[in-house]
Amino acid sequence: GTPTAGTLSTSAASPRRDGESPVVVDARGVARSFDGRGVLHDITLQIRRGEFVALLGRSGSGKSTLLRILAQLDTEHDGDLRVPERRAVAFQDSRLLPWARVLPNVLLGLKDARSRARGEALLAEVGLADHARAWPKTLSGGEQQRVALARALARDPELLLMDEPFGALDALTRIRMHRLLRGLVARHSPGVLLVTHDVDEAVLLADRVIVLTDGHLSLDEPIDLPEVGRRSHPGFTALRSRLL
Ligand code: ADP
Ligand code: MG
Repeated sequence: GTPTAGTLSTSAASPRRDGESPVVVDARGVARSFDGRGVLHDITLQIRRGEFVALLGRSGSGKSTLLRILAQLDTEHDGDLRVPERRAVAFQDSRLLPWARVLPNVLLGLKDARSRARGEALLAEVGLADHARAWPKTLSGGEQQRVALARALARDPELLLMDEPFGALDALTRIRMHRLLRGLVARHSPGVLLVTHDVDEAVLLADRVIVLTDGHLSLDEPIDLPEVGRRSHPGFTALRSRLL
Protein backbone atom coordinates (compact mmCIF):
# COMPACT_ATOMS: atom_id res chain seq x y z
CA GLY A 1 0.00 0.00 0.00
CA THR A 2 0.93 3.65 -0.08
CA PRO A 3 2.61 5.01 3.04
CA THR A 4 0.59 7.67 4.82
CA ALA A 5 1.93 10.37 7.09
CA GLY A 6 3.57 9.03 10.22
CA THR A 7 2.69 5.41 9.59
CA LEU A 8 3.05 2.78 6.92
CA SER A 9 0.31 0.76 5.38
CA THR A 10 1.08 -2.90 6.03
CA SER A 11 -0.78 -6.17 5.95
CA ALA A 12 -0.46 -8.75 8.70
CA ALA A 13 0.30 -11.70 6.45
CA SER A 14 3.28 -10.68 4.37
CA PRO A 15 5.60 -13.19 2.78
CA ARG A 16 9.22 -13.20 3.86
CA ARG A 17 11.92 -11.70 1.62
CA ASP A 18 9.39 -10.81 -0.99
CA GLY A 19 10.05 -7.72 -3.06
CA GLU A 20 6.41 -6.85 -2.47
CA SER A 21 6.67 -6.98 1.33
CA PRO A 22 5.65 -3.67 2.86
CA VAL A 23 8.37 -1.10 3.47
CA VAL A 24 8.77 -0.67 7.24
CA VAL A 25 11.67 1.78 7.20
CA ASP A 26 11.61 4.54 4.64
CA ALA A 27 14.33 7.08 5.43
CA ARG A 28 15.23 9.74 2.90
CA GLY A 29 18.05 12.15 3.49
CA VAL A 30 18.00 11.70 7.25
CA ALA A 31 20.67 13.76 9.02
CA ARG A 32 21.45 14.57 12.62
CA SER A 33 23.84 16.93 14.27
CA PHE A 34 24.62 17.68 17.88
CA ASP A 35 25.64 21.25 18.71
CA GLY A 36 26.40 21.94 15.05
CA ARG A 37 28.50 18.83 14.58
CA GLY A 38 27.15 16.46 11.91
CA VAL A 39 26.89 12.89 13.18
CA LEU A 40 24.60 11.39 10.50
CA HIS A 41 24.63 12.59 6.89
CA ASP A 42 22.05 12.03 4.17
CA ILE A 43 20.90 8.56 5.22
CA THR A 44 18.58 7.04 2.64
CA LEU A 45 17.47 3.55 3.57
CA GLN A 46 14.50 1.27 2.99
CA ILE A 47 13.83 -1.93 4.90
CA ARG A 48 10.98 -4.27 4.06
CA ARG A 49 9.02 -6.48 6.38
CA GLY A 50 10.73 -9.89 6.69
CA GLU A 51 14.16 -8.45 5.87
CA PHE A 52 16.98 -8.91 8.38
CA VAL A 53 19.45 -6.04 8.08
CA ALA A 54 22.65 -5.80 10.14
CA LEU A 55 24.14 -2.36 10.72
CA LEU A 56 27.91 -2.39 11.21
CA GLY A 57 30.31 0.42 11.97
CA ARG A 58 33.08 1.46 14.26
CA SER A 59 32.39 2.90 17.65
CA GLY A 60 31.21 6.50 17.20
CA SER A 61 30.13 6.03 13.56
CA GLY A 62 26.51 6.90 14.39
CA LYS A 63 24.84 3.49 14.70
CA SER A 64 22.99 4.15 17.95
CA THR A 65 22.02 7.62 16.81
CA LEU A 66 20.43 6.15 13.67
CA LEU A 67 18.68 3.41 15.64
CA ARG A 68 17.24 5.94 18.09
CA ILE A 69 15.94 7.99 15.18
CA LEU A 70 14.33 4.93 13.56
CA ALA A 71 12.77 4.11 16.95
CA GLN A 72 11.58 7.73 17.07
CA LEU A 73 13.21 8.12 20.46
CA ASP A 74 14.99 11.04 18.77
CA THR A 75 12.85 13.20 16.51
CA GLU A 76 15.29 16.11 16.17
CA HIS A 77 16.60 15.03 12.78
CA ASP A 78 16.45 16.43 9.27
CA GLY A 79 15.05 14.56 6.27
CA ASP A 80 12.00 12.34 5.90
CA LEU A 81 11.30 9.21 7.86
CA ARG A 82 8.43 6.77 7.86
CA VAL A 83 8.26 3.86 10.28
CA PRO A 84 5.26 1.87 11.48
CA GLU A 85 3.51 2.51 14.79
CA ARG A 86 4.04 -1.11 15.73
CA ARG A 87 7.78 -1.21 16.34
CA ALA A 88 9.90 -2.57 19.17
CA VAL A 89 13.39 -1.81 20.41
CA ALA A 90 15.88 -3.93 22.34
CA PHE A 91 19.12 -2.67 23.86
CA GLN A 92 22.28 -4.24 25.26
CA ASP A 93 20.81 -3.77 28.72
CA SER A 94 17.51 -5.69 28.82
CA ARG A 95 15.82 -2.77 30.64
CA LEU A 96 13.40 -5.05 32.46
CA LEU A 97 11.51 -3.44 35.30
CA PRO A 98 13.05 -4.88 38.48
CA TRP A 99 9.86 -4.56 40.51
CA ALA A 100 7.74 -6.60 38.08
CA ARG A 101 7.92 -10.34 37.49
CA VAL A 102 8.83 -11.79 34.10
CA LEU A 103 5.37 -12.17 32.52
CA PRO A 104 4.19 -8.67 33.59
CA ASN A 105 7.41 -7.32 32.09
CA VAL A 106 6.55 -9.04 28.80
CA LEU A 107 2.98 -7.70 28.92
CA LEU A 108 3.94 -4.18 29.97
CA GLY A 109 1.58 -1.66 28.41
CA LEU A 110 -0.49 -4.29 26.59
CA LYS A 111 -4.17 -4.15 27.40
CA ASP A 112 -6.26 -6.48 25.29
CA ALA A 113 -7.33 -9.86 26.64
CA ARG A 114 -5.38 -11.92 24.11
CA SER A 115 -2.07 -10.36 25.17
CA ARG A 116 -1.60 -12.66 28.15
CA ALA A 117 -1.83 -15.81 26.04
CA ARG A 118 0.50 -14.27 23.48
CA GLY A 119 2.97 -13.30 26.23
CA GLU A 120 2.91 -16.81 27.66
CA ALA A 121 3.40 -18.34 24.22
CA LEU A 122 6.37 -16.07 23.58
CA LEU A 123 7.95 -16.96 26.92
CA ALA A 124 7.63 -20.59 25.89
CA GLU A 125 9.20 -19.77 22.51
CA VAL A 126 12.25 -18.25 24.21
CA GLY A 127 12.44 -21.25 26.56
CA LEU A 128 11.30 -19.46 29.71
CA ALA A 129 7.78 -20.83 30.20
CA ASP A 130 8.74 -21.88 33.72
CA HIS A 131 10.00 -18.41 34.63
CA ALA A 132 6.80 -16.40 34.15
CA ARG A 133 6.62 -15.59 37.86
CA ALA A 134 10.36 -15.12 38.42
CA TRP A 135 11.91 -11.77 39.28
CA PRO A 136 14.23 -10.35 36.61
CA LYS A 137 17.21 -10.14 38.97
CA THR A 138 17.10 -13.92 39.51
CA LEU A 139 17.72 -14.51 35.78
CA SER A 140 21.08 -14.69 33.99
CA GLY A 141 22.03 -11.99 31.48
CA GLY A 142 21.08 -14.26 28.59
CA GLU A 143 17.73 -15.11 30.15
CA GLN A 144 17.02 -11.41 30.70
CA GLN A 145 17.71 -10.76 27.02
CA ARG A 146 15.35 -13.60 26.10
CA VAL A 147 12.65 -11.91 28.18
CA ALA A 148 13.44 -8.64 26.40
CA LEU A 149 12.98 -10.39 23.02
CA ALA A 150 9.67 -11.89 24.18
CA ARG A 151 8.58 -8.44 25.35
CA ALA A 152 9.54 -6.90 22.00
CA LEU A 153 7.68 -9.56 19.99
CA ALA A 154 4.60 -9.46 22.24
CA ARG A 155 3.77 -6.21 20.46
CA ASP A 156 3.69 -8.08 17.14
CA PRO A 157 6.09 -5.51 15.70
CA GLU A 158 6.34 -4.82 12.00
CA LEU A 159 9.80 -3.42 12.76
CA LEU A 160 12.25 -4.76 15.35
CA LEU A 161 15.24 -2.56 16.19
CA MET A 162 18.11 -3.94 18.27
CA ASP A 163 21.20 -2.09 19.49
CA GLU A 164 23.99 -4.59 20.27
CA PRO A 165 21.51 -6.81 22.14
CA PHE A 166 24.09 -9.54 22.80
CA GLY A 167 27.07 -7.27 23.42
CA ALA A 168 27.24 -8.00 27.14
CA LEU A 169 26.85 -11.78 26.85
CA ASP A 170 29.57 -14.41 26.86
CA ALA A 171 30.45 -16.09 23.57
CA LEU A 172 28.55 -19.32 24.18
CA THR A 173 25.40 -17.56 25.30
CA ARG A 174 25.68 -15.29 22.25
CA ILE A 175 25.71 -18.30 19.91
CA ARG A 176 22.57 -19.66 21.57
CA MET A 177 20.94 -16.24 21.24
CA HIS A 178 21.79 -16.16 17.53
CA ARG A 179 19.98 -19.45 16.99
CA LEU A 180 17.03 -18.25 19.03
CA LEU A 181 16.81 -14.91 17.24
CA ARG A 182 16.93 -16.52 13.79
CA GLY A 183 14.01 -18.77 14.70
CA LEU A 184 11.99 -15.92 16.22
CA VAL A 185 12.53 -13.69 13.21
CA ALA A 186 11.65 -16.51 10.79
CA ARG A 187 8.38 -17.17 12.62
CA HIS A 188 7.30 -13.60 13.33
CA SER A 189 8.75 -11.90 10.22
CA PRO A 190 9.21 -8.32 11.36
CA GLY A 191 11.63 -6.13 9.46
CA VAL A 192 14.83 -6.24 11.53
CA LEU A 193 17.65 -3.78 12.01
CA LEU A 194 20.37 -5.24 14.22
CA VAL A 195 23.18 -2.92 15.26
CA THR A 196 26.35 -4.84 15.97
CA HIS A 197 30.09 -4.33 15.82
CA ASP A 198 30.56 -8.09 15.42
CA VAL A 199 31.14 -8.79 11.72
CA ASP A 200 30.60 -12.54 12.15
CA GLU A 201 27.28 -11.92 13.88
CA ALA A 202 26.20 -9.62 11.05
CA VAL A 203 27.20 -11.98 8.26
CA LEU A 204 25.76 -14.98 10.06
CA LEU A 205 22.34 -13.54 10.81
CA ALA A 206 21.48 -10.95 8.21
CA ASP A 207 20.07 -10.96 4.68
CA ARG A 208 21.73 -7.63 4.09
CA VAL A 209 24.57 -5.68 5.68
CA ILE A 210 24.83 -1.92 5.81
CA VAL A 211 27.86 -0.04 7.09
CA LEU A 212 28.12 3.41 8.63
CA THR A 213 31.43 5.25 8.28
CA ASP A 214 31.63 8.61 10.06
CA GLY A 215 27.88 9.03 9.76
CA HIS A 216 27.69 8.12 6.06
CA LEU A 217 26.16 4.90 4.71
CA SER A 218 29.26 3.50 3.04
CA LEU A 219 27.96 0.05 2.08
CA ASP A 220 24.59 -1.60 1.53
CA GLU A 221 24.92 -5.16 0.33
CA PRO A 222 22.63 -8.21 0.24
CA ILE A 223 24.01 -11.47 1.61
CA ASP A 224 23.24 -14.32 -0.72
CA LEU A 225 24.64 -17.23 1.21
CA PRO A 226 22.77 -20.39 2.21
CA GLU A 227 21.38 -20.22 5.76
CA VAL A 228 22.53 -23.73 6.54
CA GLY A 229 26.30 -24.01 6.59
CA ARG A 230 26.72 -20.29 6.08
CA ARG A 231 29.80 -20.09 8.30
CA SER A 232 31.72 -22.62 6.24
CA HIS A 233 30.71 -21.09 2.90
CA PRO A 234 33.66 -19.45 1.10
CA GLY A 235 31.46 -16.39 0.53
CA PHE A 236 31.30 -15.92 4.31
CA THR A 237 35.06 -15.50 4.54
CA ALA A 238 35.15 -13.32 1.44
CA LEU A 239 32.44 -10.96 2.68
CA ARG A 240 33.93 -10.89 6.15
CA SER A 241 37.35 -9.91 4.85
CA ARG A 242 35.82 -7.21 2.65
CA LEU A 243 34.08 -5.71 5.65
CA LEU A 244 37.14 -5.72 7.88
P1 ADP B 1 27.90 4.33 17.73
O1 ADP B 1 26.62 3.78 18.26
O2 ADP B 1 28.16 3.96 16.29
O3 ADP B 1 29.07 3.96 18.59
P2 ADP B 1 26.73 6.90 18.38
O4 ADP B 1 25.56 7.00 17.48
O5 ADP B 1 26.47 6.55 19.80
O6 ADP B 1 27.83 5.92 17.73
O7 ADP B 1 27.50 8.29 18.36
C1 ADP B 1 27.89 8.93 17.16
C2 ADP B 1 28.51 10.26 17.50
O8 ADP B 1 27.47 11.14 17.97
C3 ADP B 1 29.56 10.21 18.59
O9 ADP B 1 30.59 11.09 18.27
C4 ADP B 1 28.80 10.66 19.83
O10 ADP B 1 29.67 11.28 20.73
C5 ADP B 1 27.82 11.65 19.24
N1 ADP B 1 26.58 11.73 20.04
C6 ADP B 1 25.65 10.76 20.19
N2 ADP B 1 24.64 11.17 20.96
C7 ADP B 1 24.94 12.45 21.34
C8 ADP B 1 24.29 13.44 22.16
N3 ADP B 1 23.12 13.17 22.73
N4 ADP B 1 24.91 14.62 22.30
C9 ADP B 1 26.08 14.89 21.69
N5 ADP B 1 26.74 14.02 20.93
C10 ADP B 1 26.19 12.82 20.74
MG1 MG C 1 26.20 2.50 19.88
